[in-house]
Amino acid sequence: MKDFYDVIIVGTGVAGLNCALHLPADKKIAVICKNTPDKSDSYLAQGGICRLQGREDFESYFADTMRAGHSENNPAAVECMIEHSEEITDELISLGVEFARNPDGSLAFTREGGHSRNRICFHEDCTGKEITSTLMRKTSQLKNVRIFPETTMLDVISADNECFGIVAMDNGTRKITYMFADYTVMACGGIGGIFTHSTNFRLLTGDGVAICLKHGVAVDNINYIQIHPTTLYTESRAGRSFLISESVRGEGAVLLDKNFKRFCNELDPRDVVTAAIYKQMKKDGTPFVWLDMRTIPADEVRAHFPSIVEKCKEAGYDVFSECIPVVPAQHYFMGGIRSDLQGRTTMKRLYAVGETCCNGVHGANRLASNSLLESLLFSKRAALDIAENFSPADKKTAEYAADNLDKKEYEQPEKLMESYKEAIKKAIKEAENAKPHFGRA
Ligand SMILES: Cc1cc2nc3c(=O)[nH]c(=O)nc-3n(C[C@H](O)[C@H](O)[C@H](O)COP(=O)(O)OP(=O)(O)OC[C@H]3O[C@@H](n4cnc5c(N)ncnc54)[C@H](O)[C@@H]3O)c2cc1C
Repeated sequence: MKDFYDVIIVGTGVAGLNCALHLPADKKIAVICKNTPDKSDSYLAQGGICRLQGREDFESYFADTMRAGHSENNPAAVECMIEHSEEITDELISLGVEFARNPDGSLAFTREGGHSRNRICFHEDCTGKEITSTLMRKTSQLKNVRIFPETTMLDVISADNECFGIVAMDNGTRKITYMFADYTVMACGGIGGIFTHSTNFRLLTGDGVAICLKHGVAVDNINYIQIHPTTLYTESRAGRSFLISESVRGEGAVLLDKNFKRFCNELDPRDVVTAAIYKQMKKDGTPFVWLDMRTIPADEVRAHFPSIVEKCKEAGYDVFSECIPVVPAQHYFMGGIRSDLQGRTTMKRLYAVGETCCNGVHGANRLASNSLLESLLFSKRAALDIAENFSPADKKTAEYAADNLDKKEYEQPEKLMESYKEAIKKAIKEAENAKPHFGRA
């Protein structure tokens, strides 16, 4: 079966949705996702989204991002992100996103590790849900956009390093469709699903990255993987690891060893805190360390962190009267499909935005709350770039590319997806051998 679109976007997280929202209304757009649209990491974001605190904050915000990234960041990308942070958060507010406010009505800002001042907009401890559900509501109202849930991208259709769309499978009927497009945007999130312990949705297995590896599209820093210092420790550790947001530490929570003594600076960047926790666990011979939230006024905990309070309660911990056990887990992918500041990859007509791409903004380690901002900004820039330079793809070449696909591969989609996971694991290992990611514990 064949379908034709102007633009296909793979992913319904903030990157995919914001791209759709910024494409022209006269373009026919398909947005697909592997499960229901709300099963994206964007919904899980707790802490918030960064916003520059006036011109005088520029150097400090820039320095914090570079320091966290071990100065391996692309300075132009960092500058671009910071420069547009007010524009992006203002746009969200105009769409209806509600951020926490001070009694005088001004925006309230919280802090997380690696930041030298409060500059993070938040909505309780479910900022991602607030932002993504708003973007989803707005996208669903667009007549030119069709959202396909339960639809898995199995491959791209390409010839001579030019992309003409994707091969997609309806998860229910297992029907394979060639979805042709003048432009294809990968917005397929991170790779946490290939790790045993991760804060990510299990379905996020880096398919876009694997497909790019397969087709010779450049991928950078594939071994640059962020381990978040604090996820709730449970005995089985089954399923997705529940994140205890860094803003808990930003608001004053402390990390304690087995003797309930502090052992690190809780506001260091993530890789530094993670390394300190692993070291302490080894020294103490424990599978976790303690996090004490009783240092934060109870009213503030109730107002700012209701989901964390609830989740800990479900696991049998009362954050108001006892410490909670925490352990590091895979959290974020700094590497990804190489993209420039317009989201363009090394393959013609193929864009990559959000966590699946690597435009260098995070360097070797992402600064807290820079991801939503980066995903929103660069997906918007990709949309504007597509709109500005739109040219129809050659239909004959597209059909020729589809004719030349190895269709046998799609007869066993599970096997294909498994091979993609293995390809990523192998590439990570090779990259780690060639140049270890020093941020990894
Ligand atoms: C628990 C948690 C808390 C976080 N907190 C924060 C925070 O406070 N601030 C911050 O800035 N960042 C935070 N992050 C990181 C941030 O949420 C993500 O980096 C960001 O939302 C990624 O957005 P995205 O649109 O690129 O991908 P996602 O939101 O993950 O969306 C990926 C989409 O791609 C689709 N997809 C994937 N593969 C396929 C395929 N083969 N076929 C079809 N569809 C596919 C999925 O179905 C999904 O719709 C957090 C992350 C987690 C996990």
